[in-house]
Amino acid sequence: MKNVDLVIIGGGPAGLAAAIAARKAGVQDLVILERDKEPGGILNQCIHNGFGLHTFKEELTGPEYAARFAEQARELGIPCKLNTMVMDLAADKTVTAMNREDGLFQLHPKAVVLAMGCRERPRGALNIPGYRPAGIYTAGTAQRLVNMEGYLPGRRVVILGSGDIGLIMARRMTLEGAKVLCVAELMPYSGGLKRNIVQCLDDFGIPLKLSHTVVDIQGKERVEGVTIARVENGKPVPGTEEHFDCDTLLLSCGLLPENELSRGAGVDLNPVTGGPAVNESLETSIPGVFAAGNVLHVHDLVDFVSEEASAAGAHAAAYILGGEQEADTRTLPVRCENGVRYTVPTTLRPACAGDTVTLRFRVANVYKNKKVAVYAGDTCIFSRKRPVLAPGEMETVLLKGDVLRAHADAAQLTVTLEEA
Ligand SMILES: Cc1cc2nc3c(=O)[nH]c(=O)nc-3n(C[C@H](O)[C@H](O)[C@H](O)COP(=O)(O)OP(=O)(O)OC[C@H]3O[C@@H](n4cnc5c(N)ncnc54)[C@H](O)[C@@H]3O)c2cc1C
Repeated sequence: MKNVDLVIIGGGPAGLAAAIAARKAGVQDLVILERDKEPGGILNQCIHNGFGLHTFKEELTGPEYAARFAEQARELGIPCKLNTMVMDLAADKTVTAMNREDGLFQLHPKAVVLAMGCRERPRGALNIPGYRPAGIYTAGTAQRLVNMEGYLPGRRVVILGSGDIGLIMARRMTLEGAKVLCVAELMPYSGGLKRNIVQCLDDFGIPLKLSHTVVDIQGKERVEGVTIARVENGKPVPGTEEHFDCDTLLLSCGLLPENELSRGAGVDLNPVTGGPAVNESLETSIPGVFAAGNVLHVHDLVDFVSEEASAAGAHAAAYILGGEQEADTRTLPVRCENGVRYTVPTTLRPACAGDTVTLRFRVANVYKNKKVAVYAGDTCIFSRKRPVLAPGEMETVLLKGDVLRAHADAAQLTVTLEEA
């Protein structure tokens, strides 16, 4: 067992940004543990552009964006153990990991940043009837096959789910010569960004069929066709079936934060996001364990992942360098109402709020002409008009620390939507 100051689990954009921020804040003894053979996480397979508009004010590909952070981490001398799988995180923060050089080893850090990202919802979680033939992939697996391994998974493709990865793969498969017949989406709205619907579907004439789902998959050895149908009140409507001859079905039906390690350690999870419940410092229910990026809640833009993870790294550094004192201060729960599905953080300590606290959330439906309002008890402390809110786009609210401290006696904070 080796003592270290900080262990960062995961070397994707979140882990890299957290490590860089912690090192810049003065943490010398830190290490990133990454199971893959290179840092960068899922961005290494996202070879399209559109990354970094907020952070670098330029359009980068995923690998370019990741490389900027990996390079900075290298320049700062931050050790990153690659091909290293973290097997266990204990409640006392002991990290058990394994790789070929060190075998099984344990680290006992003062603080941990969870940055394990997320995984895709597989077919098994979707209850689609039909045989189990070859030719059914999650969109992320297809993205890896095409962009990293050089294989085209199929030539005639139906995509179920209009999350961003599904939309991006509709364009990618088309550019590689496949015919994408349609994207079917269970909900009456897309789960992806508006810009991806325009650039990946509309520009290529690929139909988006909202309120539709796959009701049958034909083919025993290989997918031979897919039947979709319109959905009302959550159920397929008989007589609305539409058949597509195809050899491939791609699934883009949601991402699940990767929290087996967090669960094992006893970290409290938010049932809505599937990620840890955190306070304003992105600290989980275990003092000294912080979380950021897709392990915390699924982000739409990687720029926000980097921003959030930098904050987690800085808070972890403050925890380590401040001598692991737990702030004995009032904690307000953050509640959501009227179409706000969740918030990160879920609790907030006004005394620890600093200059500002970033509150991120998603809405449960498409709303027009609403006002996002935040109340401390009965007092409105923030309000902003929003012409359109959609579940696919993450919302961000900045709350002023002074205002929060002035309302530290409130019973709770409430984030809600009101008529504009
Ligand atoms: C398939 C897919 C495609 C995406 N495409 C886009 C896109 O086109 N545009 C966009 O803006 N966003 C995209 N995203 C969202 C993207 O995930 C985030 O923007 C960003 O990469 C999240 O960063 P992260 O560091 O939180 O997670 P990740 O990038 O997933 O990094 C997590 C890292 O943790 C490592 N890890 C996990 N568990 C362990 C363990 N036990 N031990 C050691 N290491 C571990 C993983 O190997 C990985 O490197 C995509 C996501 C997925 C899943």
